[in-house]
Amino acid sequence: MLLDLPPMTADRFAAIEDAVAALLRTRNDVIVTQGEALLPLEAAIKGAAHPGSTALNVVTGPYGQTFGGWLRAAGAKVVDLTVPYDTAVGAEQVAAALDEHPEIDFVSLVHAEAATGNTNPVAAIAEVVRRHGALLMLDAVASVAAEPLLTDEWGVDLCVIGGQKAMGGPAGVSAVSVSERAWQRIAANPAAPRRSYLSLLDWKERWTDAGRTQLPHAPAQLEMLALEECLAAIEAETLDAVIARHRAAAAATRAGALALGTVAPYVRRAEHAAPVATTLRTPLGTNAADLAAEVHRRAPQLPVQAGGALAATMLRLNHYGPAANPETVIATLELLAQATGAPAAAAVAAATEAWEQAI
Ligand SMILES: *Cc1c(COP(=O)(O)O)cnc(C)c1O
Repeated sequence: MLLDLPPMTADRFAAIEDAVAALLRTRNDVIVTQGEALLPLEAAIKGAAHPGSTALNVVTGPYGQTFGGWLRAAGAKVVDLTVPYDTAVGAEQVAAALDEHPEIDFVSLVHAEAATGNTNPVAAIAEVVRRHGALLMLDAVASVAAEPLLTDEWGVDLCVIGGQKAMGGPAGVSAVSVSERAWQRIAANPAAPRRSYLSLLDWKERWTDAGRTQLPHAPAQLEMLALEECLAAIEAETLDAVIARHRAAAAATRAGALALGTVAPYVRRAEHAAPVATTLRTPLGTNAADLAAEVHRRAPQLPVQAGGALAATMLRLNHYGPAANPETVIATLELLAQATGAPAAAAVAAATEAWEQAI
């Protein structure tokens, strides 16, 4: 069934791009990229950054670290603004960095970080960046469909998404919206990738500006069909309802974890906590990877993981896509209660109440 499909037409591909643009609340060009979201993130940075440019790289987790490496590889001077991963960056911190380095012409920022469980106040930060005049690139992979994402209203020049988190879709295609001034910047950059998988300009010339009538390469057809289906599912449920479900899942998980008492939220303030994943500090002397393995042994389907640089001390409960529902949140808390030797009833009650209040 998956292998005997008619070819994907250019019209259908273009319609999927338009649906992504609507989801991002943008009238800018949207390029659907044929790979996981790291592809458009690297393409945006390598297209816009160059020797002679100065970038402010906001680091609130591991993705910001990755962007710093790409910016330096592109020859840009990089000013890193790093904040502790259990908090969010404030617009006033971004403003201070821009004041201190007036030459900054590019800002890279992550909206929500699934890996650390935090989220940044993009609307306020974007306003500061716009006033300064720099281009803003936003990694919205973990925020799209989980919290409001207003690309044009905020003035995001390069907004990158992937389907695999709150959209509940495929990981093998992704997208980036590109503002007119971002296109001008990339077109004026002699080092911007050309005739390359990383080239946004190739897609602009051969697909967008050519009227979107002929696909330049074979489309990732199965992934495009999955993207089309998850966009339709979001429209049917309504974007507001999908966002509310993620907000409720985060509030319920946080309330439940606090009631357990054996674990504590890693992100200290609720308003800095991402709607897609709740990260937890494990009890002193307990290895988070062992705890995650214990939960998996009992319930392999639950979205609990330990990983990355903080694997020993940080447990991550994912609640995005289909997992953003009360049954999964409560089942996860019950397992965590068993695994850490805490009574489950209070956590279940707190989570249930928080879910109802949030919805
Ligand atoms: C999940 C995520 C991505 C995509 O990366 P994967 O390693 O494929 O999961 C990119 N950026 C952010 C901020 C993410 O949370």
